[in-house]
Amino acid sequence: MIVLPETLAAREVPGFIYKGLRPEEAFVSILRHEMTHALLEHMTEDSPISAAAHEYLAFAFQIEAMTNDERAAFLETNGTRPAKSLDTFNMVIYRFVPGRFASAVWLHYSAPENGCRFARDVIEGRVILGTPLHFP
Ligand SMILES: [Zn+2]
Repeated sequence: MIVLPETLAAREVPGFIYKGLRPEEAFVSILRHEMTHALLEHMTEDSPISAAAHEYLAFAFQIEAMTNDERAAFLETNGTRPAKSLDTFNMVIYRFVPGRFASAVWLHYSAPENGCRFARDVIEGRVILGTPLHFP
């Protein structure tokens, strides 16, 4: 389901993680998140990654594509508490506090030692986040 910017503008949703962004900015940002999921589905169809890995990567690339002002507003809304460990990136945290999950993703992904190298490790299965979809 796609929610258009005018609909986003009319919504007052408690805990809406994009409330610091204008409706058009939130719309484009959400679209980038969903496009990342679609690309990941295609890229990992022979070796699927976990739901938590999907969300980590979708938020990492979504937030990376934000302007500096959008990213600052997003982090102001959702906090800047870093993950204590990779265990933070699981579907329970994602479902209960998606904004904190997202901001923790950004703080982790944007660290110099992570970024694209870490994303590649997740996509290629060298790092597993959350519960794996398949057990050996
Ligand atoms: Zn997602």
